[in-house]
Amino acid sequence: MPLLARTVNTPLAIEVRRGALAELGRLLADQRISSGGEVAVVVGHGQGERIAELIKPNLGNADIFTVAGGTLAAANELGSKLRRRSYDAVVGIGGGKTLDTAKYAASAYGLPMVSVATNLAHDGIASPVSSLDHDGVRRSYGVHIPIAVVVDLDFVEHGPDRQTRSGIGDAISNLNAVADWELAHATRGEPLDGLAITLARTGAEALINHPGTLGDDDFLTVLAEALILGGIAMAVSGSSRPASGGCHEISHALDLLYPDTGTHGEQVGMGALFCTYLRGDEHRFRQISDCLKRHGLPRVPADLGLTDEQFAEAVSYAPATRPDRYTILEHLALSPEQVRARVKEYVNAVCG
Ligand SMILES: [Zn+2]
Repeated sequence: MPLLARTVNTPLAIEVRRGALAELGRLLADQRISSGGEVAVVVGHGQGERIAELIKPNLGNADIFTVAGGTLAAANELGSKLRRRSYDAVVGIGGGKTLDTAKYAASAYGLPMVSVATNLAHDGIASPVSSLDHDGVRRSYGVHIPIAVVVDLDFVEHGPDRQTRSGIGDAISNLNAVADWELAHATRGEPLDGLAITLARTGAEALINHPGTLGDDDFLTVLAEALILGGIAMAVSGSSRPASGGCHEISHALDLLYPDTGTHGEQVGMGALFCTYLRGDEHRFRQISDCLKRHGLPRVPADLGLTDEQFAEAVSYAPATRPDRYTILEHLALSPEQVRARVKEYVNAVCG
């Protein structure tokens, strides 16, 4: 019988637990990524020294690079340093910016990248996408998916709660991204990828009704796994589609119009709630609203320090940030006046 299946590139290893960082050398050896610890370790400012101390006993041959990450220039500079020696892999340790810088540099030089997340702020921990600033504009670059993903809950626990909360918003927004994708399929015949949808939605579904808080290991594990599944869903579909819909268009518009308003996860979580409202899915709207409220995430513009007018302006601008992506925003094609009216109704619906 022929076995009809497809081959999917996923990380070789996924570990979510406490104390993972101290055992990184073992993981690299066990997975045959690096038997002697000949790796380039990339860390951000601040946590770098503590991390270097922890991994030294097992990764004696590693070189440690500190990056002031998040820019294409920093990633290219790191890349030029990677050429000086023959490394088995690049190990990025830290949060989004450090990981994105390491991912891009490793991909550009054909080296496998091990992602060690010390916070759960967004789904970049396991995605084949690197988000970097260049000339004042943030762009997403396609890169190889990490060869291994490690989340050390000891670090996550001691990191700022705001970052971890943000990850909840990013993971939950996958529900909206998938709904937008299904809308594009129904309206325009855009092909769906059932496996990518399964991965993206399952993680978010596990999270949305989870009664735990940021203080529980089991909740943090479900959050980490939801973010990882979102990243793998992107790799499966070869696109950010399963994890980025109208919610992300609104967030990109906020970044452009009102820089530094909120974190990525705060903005896409609220964007997802607003798009779900526009879609008229009452059950999902209540579910997402309750989840955001339970974890102290913003739901209305005022929670982000914005006026309803400012938020409406971002919603009107949102489709222009991603012209090729069909979402509920492009589907409804509301006039600025209609957007203002819907934002007003939305705020009443959330608060009422
Ligand atoms: Zn996102």
